[in-house]
Amino acid sequence: MKPVFNTPNWMLAALRERREQNLMRRTITLDSPQTPQTRINAQAYTAFCSNDYLGLANHPDIIQALRFGAEQYGVGAGASHLVCGHLTPHQKLEDALADWLGYERVILFSTGYMANLGVISALAGKNRPVVQDKLNHASLIDGAMLAQAPLRRYLHGNLASAEKLLAKSAVTGLLVSDGVFSMDGDVAPLLGLSELANKHDWMFLVDDAHGLGCFGDDGKGCLSLGGLNADNVPILVGTFGKAFGTAGAFVATSNDVADYLTQFARPYVYTTAMSPAMAMATLASLSIIQSTEGQERRDRLARHIDYFRQRVQSLPVELMPSNTAIQPIVIGDSKMALQMSEELKSLGIWCTAIRPPTVPVGSARLRITLSAAHSDADLVLLCDSLEQVLQAPRSHAPCSNAKL
Ligand SMILES: *Cc1c(COP(=O)(O)O)cnc(C)c1O
Repeated sequence: MKPVFNTPNWMLAALRERREQNLMRRTITLDSPQTPQTRINAQAYTAFCSNDYLGLANHPDIIQALRFGAEQYGVGAGASHLVCGHLTPHQKLEDALADWLGYERVILFSTGYMANLGVISALAGKNRPVVQDKLNHASLIDGAMLAQAPLRRYLHGNLASAEKLLAKSAVTGLLVSDGVFSMDGDVAPLLGLSELANKHDWMFLVDDAHGLGCFGDDGKGCLSLGGLNADNVPILVGTFGKAFGTAGAFVATSNDVADYLTQFARPYVYTTAMSPAMAMATLASLSIIQSTEGQERRDRLARHIDYFRQRVQSLPVELMPSNTAIQPIVIGDSKMALQMSEELKSLGIWCTAIRPPTVPVGSARLRITLSAAHSDADLVLLCDSLEQVLQAPRSHAPCSNAKL
């Protein structure tokens, strides 16, 4: 077929560079729902890389709620929230989340990426700087860019480094942190950060995409660690694409901030509301998260995390300081990480190698994620396979202490 467009040289060069550095990415197609037992290229694998931490993405009650929601309220919202796309399921979901987490108001966004763009671009600006953890999620960084706000980043998890930046700033702004860091799995020092924000009179935002649903009382995530609440974390972002197993996101905050975002968060104003059927499905997943079934799922996930860490401890790699579902094994070199991911595939394990620019240069890794949907036998298979791959003799040993 004749190309419809002559690819410009700069584009070809960028692609060539990615290929040469073993950093080229492409999608793979799963011919199955998002469950641990997956099919890819007509092959069966046990997968350890989804964010479906509680195994709700394919839960019968949530599928049923989506179906019922579509029958009652249709598939499409048909308009933005402010025009006429805000339907009863959206309002019910906002109210249920506000009630659960103890905030005055919750507003929904279509994705977590958009929630972060929306909130940060509305709250920050040329005279309201953003200070963020160095390892914050890309969407938080991009929010500051959309705001055209001065952006400073402190050393990962380092309160002294954060305070230096706050103290140095002539004007106050917005302090931002992931709750659980998406590529490392560790938890931010949220109490300390909230105290810093208070002391210097900065606004404070936490994105708990990987914590909500997974741990804490009632699955309330990072907030319930150390007994934090809306007073400590006045702006909380959560997403539904991970433990909730659906899609979309929310911001929990005060009435005033919610009113402000409703006027000024462009990614809230200028986009179609999430599907009302999806809002119904998400309500169903919230009620599972709050139920004894949810607690059982969290308990099973916690047992898997313990087992995994105990087994990997004896292998020639360093475990990250993570007690969450995200259990990365840092390999260092991108090519080596790809090779190990291929070797795991040949043993029936699917785990995508995560490479720069998603993670810092020299810290390519196997980002292993565990889920309540995994069985004990899945965990045994994973650890046996890792043992085999990580202990295999190689020309150059994997670098377990890559500089981060
Ligand atoms: C996944 C993720 C997001 C993006 O959420 P989506 O709903 O997938 O767009 C935002 N923040 C963090 C920390 C995440 O891990």
